[in-house]
Amino acid sequence: MADPSQNRPGYFGREFLTQLVQRLDGPAFIGRFIQVITRGDRHYAVCPFHKDSKPSLLIRTDGSFHCFGCHKSGSVFNFLMERNALTFPEAVTEVAQFTGTPLPQSSGRTGPTKEQLAMYEALKDCAKFFKEQLDQATSNSPVKRYLAMREVDPDTLEKYQIGYAPNTWTSIKDRNKQVSEQLLIDADLLVHNRDKNSVYDRYRHRLMFPIRDRQGRVVGFGGRVLDDAVEPKYLNTKQTKVFTKGRELYGLYETLQQPKRPERLLLVEGYMDVVALSQHGIPYAVAALGTASNANHFQTMFWSTNEVVCCFDGDDAGRLAARRALEVALSVIKEEKTVRFMFLPSDEDPDSFVRKHGKEAFEREVESAQHVADYFVSGLVDNRDRSFESIEAKARFVDRAINLIQKVSQPTMRKILTQEVAQCFPEQVNMQALLQPAAVADDEPPPDEPSYEEMEDFEPVSRAGNQYEQEINTRRRVSQLLCAPNIWPRLNEHRELLERLVHSAPDHPLTRVWLAIDRHHFTDIHGLIASFQEDAWFTHYLNDIYDPQLAPAMIDVDTTLGQFTESVQTFITTLEKKVHSEIWLNQFRAAQK
Ligand SMILES: [Zn+2]
Repeated sequence: MADPSQNRPGYFGREFLTQLVQRLDGPAFIGRFIQVITRGDRHYAVCPFHKDSKPSLLIRTDGSFHCFGCHKSGSVFNFLMERNALTFPEAVTEVAQFTGTPLPQSSGRTGPTKEQLAMYEALKDCAKFFKEQLDQATSNSPVKRYLAMREVDPDTLEKYQIGYAPNTWTSIKDRNKQVSEQLLIDADLLVHNRDKNSVYDRYRHRLMFPIRDRQGRVVGFGGRVLDDAVEPKYLNTKQTKVFTKGRELYGLYETLQQPKRPERLLLVEGYMDVVALSQHGIPYAVAALGTASNANHFQTMFWSTNEVVCCFDGDDAGRLAARRALEVALSVIKEEKTVRFMFLPSDEDPDSFVRKHGKEAFEREVESAQHVADYFVSGLVDNRDRSFESIEAKARFVDRAINLIQKVSQPTMRKILTQEVAQCFPEQVNMQALLQPAAVADDEPPPDEPSYEEMEDFEPVSRAGNQYEQEINTRRRVSQLLCAPNIWPRLNEHRELLERLVHSAPDHPLTRVWLAIDRHHFTDIHGLIASFQEDAWFTHYLNDIYDPQLAPAMIDVDTTLGQFTESVQTFITTLEKKVHSEIWLNQFRAAQK
């Protein structure tokens, strides 16, 4: 019987892939991305996947690799997916192009068409032309004066291949006499005015930012005016056969050229933000190109990093953009991925901020960005609704929250967000509705694109001290206590710990549960939970946390008691050091009012 997967689009076939890597000069291919050192007949590189000081990455002739430091290993395709954020089909296509191997018909991929190849050529040539125009401009020209004002240095211009479109109507048209006019129109380099039946250059008298895809090909441009009075301020390439709007991220290719996989990516709004941040030592910023950030953008970013920090201007437009980004982020977030939100002061953007205050100040802002769960409630509330004065405001908030929570596919995150909302209105929220399974996301990746979770085996990002993590720890400790009634009679051996707990966190769930056990000498979970029946929200919280599956595993009283007290000890130490933000407490008290 034929393998049904043979018919799937995007399927290359094992035989083809085996032949492809046999034909490959792995060290030469990988040497295009990182420096490869040859010792005898063995090839090594400094590992891009961990903090490596000596070359620990072995590269074999078929391009497969193994790191003796972090033990990461895989095929040449894994290398491209991890290092360059390519999808599996893109990685195969890249290797096939390098070896000059045609892709099999059955793959549904035949590489770029003749037309696309011609477009890539025309766009590349255009980028070169714009760059020459900038190089040749005199220091007194408007474009050079503009760059001086924005303090962009020559290395940065070179890194991003920034150029200048001259103030004429036919430079591009005249330069490309041998290329068909229609191709240049289709590539959005020329504009055809049907009324006047004239064709002219699309970009005139603008600073030009070439947009490169993850393979480094120029696929479009962003053109910025030199005089802020001219509209539109930014002119972006329209959708073409080589440029899919809402997919590319400006600066991603340049970011991924660094030897290391970025620990995080910073999502900003503008080209100049990306460029200025890079120049000031923050080379991991990317920008969505004139569109709101969407699920594709987040998925692309998560292929190459575990943490995305969304950076917004502090004004109303920034808040609005952040709320949109929140919706998207919640729908794509996965267990080991982190999304955080940061807001700059209202009169600053990343470009102006980093130029004024420098790298360290900017990175402090990045470090203190809010975790998505912490931002959730504040991000959902309109300015005018902030105090929930009216029933309508509450209803709007709860509607929006339910709507959003149902899109979250990650169960722990869904529970935590539900709890956040429930804390705002203990009596009004229909918890069951909130806890329904997530609806299927509208824009899932097409089936031939492997999802990033399959590609990832990095350690989760550890981010102690945020509320999300604290909440997980709280739930774990309370659950530990609920599931081990056999340690309850022996808790009085640790009354000193309980007293410190009462002192530093009187309203904390852990304190409340332990106090109840201490006062009423409960012997079973149902009596304990029933004692909180006055407090519907807390009863629900405990029922939610209590997992009977855990109970039988904790049979050894001494071990369980030891683990529990140690965990409480850690918690109290944290509290006493005032590291704890007390957000939970404040929210809890607010909810009681
Ligand atoms: Zn390594």
